[in-house]
Amino acid sequence: MRCPNCNGKDIGKIGAQNYYCWTCFIEMTVDDEKLTIHQVEADGSLSSLNDLFSEDERKLEW
Ligand SMILES: [Zn+2]
Repeated sequence: MRCPNCNGKDIGKIGAQNYYCWTCFIEMTVDDEKLTIHQVEADGSLSSLNDLFSEDERKLEW
């Protein structure tokens, strides 16, 4: 699995369907074979980055 944002492989599993990229600090949730991508803000809230990625980029490739 690669990070769709930075293409890095430094991905950590933080939950059953949740992954975290330690390179660019985004959180990914696996949702029906697609990735939902969030950025973790300084206050701990999540903002969606899905708009920045195409359907293709968010498709899960293992
Ligand atoms: Zn990344």
